[in-house]
Amino acid sequence: MMVRPFAGRLTVRRPTEFCPTAPRPIPARPIVRGFFLALAAILTWTAGAAAQQQIDQTYTAEIRKFTTEPFFLTPLVDHLPASNTVPTPRAFLGHIAGAPDVLSYPEEIYRYMRAVAAASDRVKVLSIGETEEGREMILVVVADEKTIADLDRYKALLARLADPRKTPEAEAARIIPDAKPIYYATGAIHSPETGSPEMLMELVYRLAVDESEHIRKIRENIIFMTTPVIEVDGRAKVVDLHMAPRKDPTLKLPTRPLYWGKYVAHDNNRDAMSLSLKITQNVLNTFLEYNPTVLHDLHESASYLYTSTGRGPYNAWIDPLVVNEWNRLAHKEVKEMTAFGVPGVYTHDFYDGWTPNYMFWIANMRNSIGRFYETQASRDASNHIVRANVDRTWHRPSTPLREVVWGIRNNVNLQQSALLIALGEVAENRSEYLHNFYQKSARSIAKATAEGPAAYIMPADDPRPGQQARMLSVLQRQGIEVHRTTSPFTSGDRTFPAGSYVVRLDQPFSRTADMLLDKQYYNPADLRPYDDTGWTFGPLYNVETVRVTDHAVLQAPMTLAADLVRAPGGIANANGARVFLIDYNADNNLTAFRFRHRNLKIDAAEQPFTHDGREYRAGTFMVQAGRDAARILEAAGREYGFTAYGSTTAPSVSKHPVAAPRIALMHTWQTTQNEGWIRVAFDEYGIPYDYISVHDVRDNTRLNDKYDVIVFGPSVNDALSIVRGLTGPDPIAWKTTKLTPNIGRQAQTDDMRGGLELTGVLNLQNFVKRGGTFVTMTNSSVLPVHFGLAAGVSIRETPNLWAPGGVYRTERVDRTSPITYGYGDELGVYFNRGPVFALGGAGGFGGQGGFGGGIAGRAANDGSTTTRRSGRGGLDEADVVQGRPVDMGQAGVAEFLKAQPGGGTQGMGAQGGAGQQAGGSDTRTLLRFSPDAKKLLMSGGIEHGGELAGAPALLDARLERGHVVIFGFNPMWRSGTLGSYALVFNTLLHHGNLDAGRNLTGDAVKAAGAR
Ligand SMILES: [Zn+2]
Repeated sequence: MMVRPFAGRLTVRRPTEFCPTAPRPIPARPIVRGFFLALAAILTWTAGAAAQQQIDQTYTAEIRKFTTEPFFLTPLVDHLPASNTVPTPRAFLGHIAGAPDVLSYPEEIYRYMRAVAAASDRVKVLSIGETEEGREMILVVVADEKTIADLDRYKALLARLADPRKTPEAEAARIIPDAKPIYYATGAIHSPETGSPEMLMELVYRLAVDESEHIRKIRENIIFMTTPVIEVDGRAKVVDLHMAPRKDPTLKLPTRPLYWGKYVAHDNNRDAMSLSLKITQNVLNTFLEYNPTVLHDLHESASYLYTSTGRGPYNAWIDPLVVNEWNRLAHKEVKEMTAFGVPGVYTHDFYDGWTPNYMFWIANMRNSIGRFYETQASRDASNHIVRANVDRTWHRPSTPLREVVWGIRNNVNLQQSALLIALGEVAENRSEYLHNFYQKSARSIAKATAEGPAAYIMPADDPRPGQQARMLSVLQRQGIEVHRTTSPFTSGDRTFPAGSYVVRLDQPFSRTADMLLDKQYYNPADLRPYDDTGWTFGPLYNVETVRVTDHAVLQAPMTLAADLVRAPGGIANANGARVFLIDYNADNNLTAFRFRHRNLKIDAAEQPFTHDGREYRAGTFMVQAGRDAARILEAAGREYGFTAYGSTTAPSVSKHPVAAPRIALMHTWQTTQNEGWIRVAFDEYGIPYDYISVHDVRDNTRLNDKYDVIVFGPSVNDALSIVRGLTGPDPIAWKTTKLTPNIGRQAQTDDMRGGLELTGVLNLQNFVKRGGTFVTMTNSSVLPVHFGLAAGVSIRETPNLWAPGGVYRTERVDRTSPITYGYGDELGVYFNRGPVFALGGAGGFGGQGGFGGGIAGRAANDGSTTTRRSGRGGLDEADVVQGRPVDMGQAGVAEFLKAQPGGGTQGMGAQGGAGQQAGGSDTRTLLRFSPDAKKLLMSGGIEHGGELAGAPALLDARLERGHVVIFGFNPMWRSGTLGSYALVFNTLLHHGNLDAGRNLTGDAVKAAGAR
């Protein structure tokens, strides 16, 4: 049956349309054969011209041979059409896609894709950028010849549909029959999930050469795009890891890669909000260029094929239409695959659909459809037995088998078959998917005046313009338009100065902006969150954002910011200046400036002061004029966004030098991902460091000779495990060799076994005692606590606390410690479950399998738990249904009742709280979690917050001449917590003077009060 190319309504299609070409013998399995023959009999009329196409007999025989069970094969992929011109993967690489014990390197995959493109006018290969390790990322485009030749025109059509401000409905109606949806499938973002790049080679070949009706329909009605390997750096390492021992069986390598990309492993799929990894940037830029209708990420972790919908609570900012599209595609795949007789294909389960930080959310954030598969893993491509013990449920009526032999070809079959079903679905209903895309885009523009809010305002008088600019520039890189007011304007009871920034929500990506800037609430009674529950940018960047529902803001005079927002800077009052003063506001750029000009002598004021009529915070940088200072400061001020004020007199204030210390970042050989985000942060701000392992610390009794500060990022929860490290009978190497050329870029060793050992703990203790500073974060803080390097600090037992990755309120307790220079009364920090610290308890660590010991927790409900549903807004706010007016139906109700309802919600508030010094004499509490359990939550979820309320959040423990600085939250999480970076940076800049202000009392402390 020919599909009408521009069908605008749903057409019901029989599974038989998957029937490929002529009937062929298939693997012996009576029910399948019967099914197939019956179809063949009925459907000779579907064969048509396609029936004449030759089958590649050798390739087809190997598909069948390598598929471990006939029920893991479908008619869509149980054969491969032959081509006289286009090479098959087997002809080019020497093996079929999904051959056992073979994994292809990225460069092999790219060479193959380019060979197909060279041989076929239906395929095009483009470069979309490089990774951190310098490897290419590619985009393969497949469609019919005419579409490929005219690709720019199709791109332009989708761009017009993407912005209904420029494309009225009548014009969209003319464009839609002409335009084609783009289906963008991405492979191997997760490096140990190895099957998708192999599959995508075969899929590209099949789409390019197959003349069957199903494939022609896809080729003619949609544009298929794929990036066969997303995490290219990790793929190269994983292929090394699995293929090297096959070449030299004496090699002892780890079973899983310690590093994937340069920085992070699995978290490379959590960067879609912060955009700090090259792979995210490259995929996002490709997305913004093409406006794909679907972005589909291929994963491997479920038996045997899970296709995403998720079980909620769904993200509260997306258009309800997209939820329908998730379900429609998923149910189509489950139905068709189950009809083929493939067991264990299901949806609904698995993840929540809440957090927008996954790669495929690039699409969901932008009026397109983001989705993923999880297939049974290919692992090292060997055949092996997989076992499952899954109960049948309503959404999983066909459970996986108790045990079965699995191989990588099965994985290739299932991914490819389901994808072909999805491609067919979009091809067949192409107009409908495009119309939905246009409609979702139109409703994103209507959002400002329908469900709201109208805009977010970032006031021009924010005390941290550099942090504000950094946040706004991320929004701009997301494709969000940022405006700037040209005169003061008033909204509600507040007047915003000229130069304030406005993110209008009458733009195509308004939902992206609202998702990132609004507050989240995740009800603890909902199903377990799959990832973080709260991520609100404002508090995490330490920047004020004002949510405005009054539409009048849209009429304020403003202009579109053409370039990425930058904070202004330079020098002022330079004539005759003897000293330059740079107010210290915890802007990360000031640390970047300090390290960039590490030879410039800078002092820090130890208290706030007023000078020449201007107020300065504690920590203010003071630079003597003379020589090159003015010239350096003028250029640096412009580059880093600060103003250096010249003065003819030096302020009278106690001070100490701002350091540019020698830094080491320490990693374990067990896990490196979460510390990888620390490297991202240090690299962004140009802070130099040595990257060392626990073994370097174990083996060096004179650490102070090399380092001033050692930073130990988040690692594992168990201090003894950090000490013990990896174990095993034989050495495990992680290093560059001839057979593993891609391994060892970040760090190398002949033997990963062994941890910090007790000698390493002693070396660290001596390092601190001799004046060094040791910084630990979240779970790595169990190390100094367990081994008594932090006087009086213990771990609070929190058996009931539920605080799964959100934004929680802390208060600045110590107003004089250099570590909190530049901060205000409170700060929203990222905290996830634990550990929670306590002071003055028994000390040490007494838990088993988690965080325990110390002060007993309180289990009673403390008022932090409420019953509002998951959705947008804080605890005291209302959820808002998207894609329709917020007051829908209200006029009718009012008329009916002849009464006037109330309403309206207001934006984010902030409230300071006074704190007092707590803890033992040698340990300072710098920040503590809000003592009021009801105020703890800023964004995300919480239950039994009383177990966290008032707990120290940031501690400075003195040990003889040095310090251990303990973070009870993660100050550098996924490049999304830029507001707390400066707490780490301050520790670096003032490492030799962390006791500054320790002896201030009474009025002096009051005077040091934060602004
Ligand atoms: Zn994955």
